[in-house]
Amino acid sequence: MQAPTWSAVAKILDGRALAAELRAELGARTSALAERNVRPRLVVALVGEDPSSLAYVRGLEKLGAQIGIAVEIDRLPAATSEAALRAALEGYGRDVTIHGVIVQQPLPLPLSMRRIADAVPPAKDVDCAHPLNQARLAFGSGSRFVPATPRAVMLLLERSEKWPLRGRNATVIGRSSVVGLPVGMLLLACDATITMTHSKTADLRAHAQRAEILVVAAGIPNLIDESYVRPGATVIDVGTTVIGGRLRGDVDFESASAVAGEITPVPGGVGPLTNVALMRNVVDAADSLSQFKEK
Ligand code: NAD
Repeated sequence: MQAPTWSAVAKILDGRALAAELRAELGARTSALAERNVRPRLVVALVGEDPSSLAYVRGLEKLGAQIGIAVEIDRLPAATSEAALRAALEGYGRDVTIHGVIVQQPLPLPLSMRRIADAVPPAKDVDCAHPLNQARLAFGSGSRFVPATPRAVMLLLERSEKWPLRGRNATVIGRSSVVGLPVGMLLLACDATITMTHSKTADLRAHAQRAEILVVAAGIPNLIDESYVRPGATVIDVGTTVIGGRLRGDVDFESASAVAGEITPVPGGVGPLTNVALMRNVVDAADSLSQFKEK
């Protein structure tokens, strides 16, 4: 049997180009803050020596240097107790020169993000870990920070032909607390009609086929092919799995792009925007906290 040949029709939603645009915008904002003697400062609490965490935080340092944000890694020993981590987080909260705080995950056992999240200073919680900020997000109003990956999804949708999303049918595949669930809440806040699906969903294909906007965050490479995609749909692929040294998304790009109207590639879609979205939260925090200080 011959392998099918696909002819792409979908427009590519280019995360790299958008990330470059947003980096330039953020650079202009940090220059304006510098004129008020404010240098945005992000502290990353890194407990232990997880190699992929180290690589990730070095990437944040590099991006911060490009934009004009001081990124500092507070390296804590793997044996740090919950009380000691809480004390460190409370210290960052009191330090008026720190604007953003994140706890790098995964935390070494027995520490758990779920138990520690309420110790992240809420006004500096740039990845929206604190239960208060998550609740604000759920209410769709007054949320100070939107977590980075869901924000990256929304930044791409803002540039899509489906924007504004009011009345659009959107299906989200995956319901994790860091990606799928907050994406669903943000879509709902934009007046889309949402269907949340997950590993126990019966007939995933039928739910996906109804979607004008399909956001896929399952972590299963090539889960979605053209048979799941409504013609003309906008497909956002959040999935990232490394196979044989290459990054794969959850969407079979070649097959799906023959049917979709717009699609994100992997790599080059959501990924490049995630850290830029985080840095945008740091600049927002520096802006609002410094104004508070100036009053
Ligand atoms: P997770 O494992 O916490 O959640 C996966 C979700 O997908 C679950 O809700 C599960 O029910 C659902 N799921 C699993 N198999 C399914 C199936 N067959 N059908 C329908 N739903 C199914 O993962 P996560 O942290 O939400 O991440 C999801 C993917 O996004 C991963 O590939 C991850 O690496 C990637 N990711 C990318 C970025 C980025 O910046 N691009 C950031 C975070 C996560």
